[in-house]
Amino acid sequence: MLLLSSRNIKGDNMSRGTLYDKVWEQHVVGILPTGQIQIFVGRHLMHEVTSPQAFEMLRERKLDVKHPELTTAVTDHVIPTKDAARPFKDDQAETMMAQLETNVKEFNIPYCDVGSGKQGVCHVTYPEQGLLWPGSLAVCGDSHTCTYGAFGALAFGIGTTQVSHVLATQTMAMDKLKVRQIKVTGKLQIGVTAKDVALNIIRLLGVQGGVGYAYEFAGETIENMSMEERMTLCNMAVEGGARSGYINPDKTTYNYLKKTPNAPKDFEKAVEYWDSIKSDWDAEFDDVVEINVDELEPMVTWGVNPEQGITVSEKVPALELFEGKEKDEAIDALNYMGLVEGQDIIGQKVDVVFIGSCTNGRISDFIAAAKILKGKKVAVRTLIVPGSEKVDEKSKELGLDKVFIEAGAEWRLPGCSMCLAMNPDKLIGDQRSASTSNRNFKGRQGSPTGRTHLMSPYTAAATAIEGKIADPRKYLENKSGDLE
Ligand code: SF4
Repeated sequence: MLLLSSRNIKGDNMSRGTLYDKVWEQHVVGILPTGQIQIFVGRHLMHEVTSPQAFEMLRERKLDVKHPELTTAVTDHVIPTKDAARPFKDDQAETMMAQLETNVKEFNIPYCDVGSGKQGVCHVTYPEQGLLWPGSLAVCGDSHTCTYGAFGALAFGIGTTQVSHVLATQTMAMDKLKVRQIKVTGKLQIGVTAKDVALNIIRLLGVQGGVGYAYEFAGETIENMSMEERMTLCNMAVEGGARSGYINPDKTTYNYLKKTPNAPKDFEKAVEYWDSIKSDWDAEFDDVVEINVDELEPMVTWGVNPEQGITVSEKVPALELFEGKEKDEAIDALNYMGLVEGQDIIGQKVDVVFIGSCTNGRISDFIAAAKILKGKKVAVRTLIVPGSEKVDEKSKELGLDKVFIEAGAEWRLPGCSMCLAMNPDKLIGDQRSASTSNRNFKGRQGSPTGRTHLMSPYTAAATAIEGKIADPRKYLENKSGDLE
């Protein structure tokens, strides 16, 4: 929890040996007249929202997709999670899905169709399929593409115009980022998760703290995390302003990838290469930050960006702690969230609990939530939305769906659901939600006055039982803290 140090240690003329540098250099095609670097894209992943205009641009210019075999598409944002029968009731959602279906057929792009066992939120299903390997350079028209950095890939969210460039050329223009190593040490207490680590980092460094940087997450706490926990952490890198976040690959990465359907055929040779692209022990970073998490407690946000977070034991901060623009933002956030400075965050009533999204919609997240909800009843509307068809299947195999249904929660079909609410799952009016997603921006969950508190699946499950923000640790006494 403590910020131990923050120092700039890059010498201008010193050689570099970070994973970022090595992978970047291997993907450089050349320097463009604009001065930007043209980089080769190893894996282009798509979804229905940011791709239709990109395909239109291709058609207008009579271009083909350069490497359809390096491209994969899925529908996730608009898909209803209660009744996904076609045509969708929402015409716009139906149009987006139909457009993607037409586009993937016309351009011969592999598609993770509903019912194929591969549909799901892009950042949940693509890693499950083993499409991200260490040393890959991956892009997707979505900010949380940084999730894939958990595999030691360089992964960047891109805009629609860049999606069209990548489709047409398999390259794109980009400036190289600086690299900040965030070294996390200490042992997480039971009930404290990768999500809490992510919210803590953003609280300490700010939502703008990572602008211009890629974050390398390192240290014993990260090394001890499972792949799913690493994905949760890297997923939130962009919320701290970093365009990308990554973790050096290790045995945990290789053991995960080995079981995936797209694992390399000569796995040992691949591991040899993957080992070679790790940051060297003496690699130099543009900045290094050390954070200890021994005393970290479950985190929850009180405001309208992920930096505005506290632990469940803390009180909503007093306004006198802020100055200038930050103070104005805090006043605005408190007004919007209907909170007052100095009040306890624990015990704050909520109307809805959402457990899902590309941050926390994986099987380990549902195991964690089920650990708390088993044999209990939820006090408020609780949506539990698997991140993918595979998570849905595995949950059913483990009987987790029954645990949630018996607790009174709604078990849904895979999709983005209430994370962004581009589908029927929305907050209504000024409803307050406890959400395992990654953004608590104003109006994010579908209502312009809806209020979002970000938290981990443990904390969300405990909150569902009490109908108010709760400390999950009391529900975990005498239970294992392992997520997997
Ligand atoms: S779950 Fe949320 S953050 Fe993730 S891809 Fe979907 S809408 Fe975006």
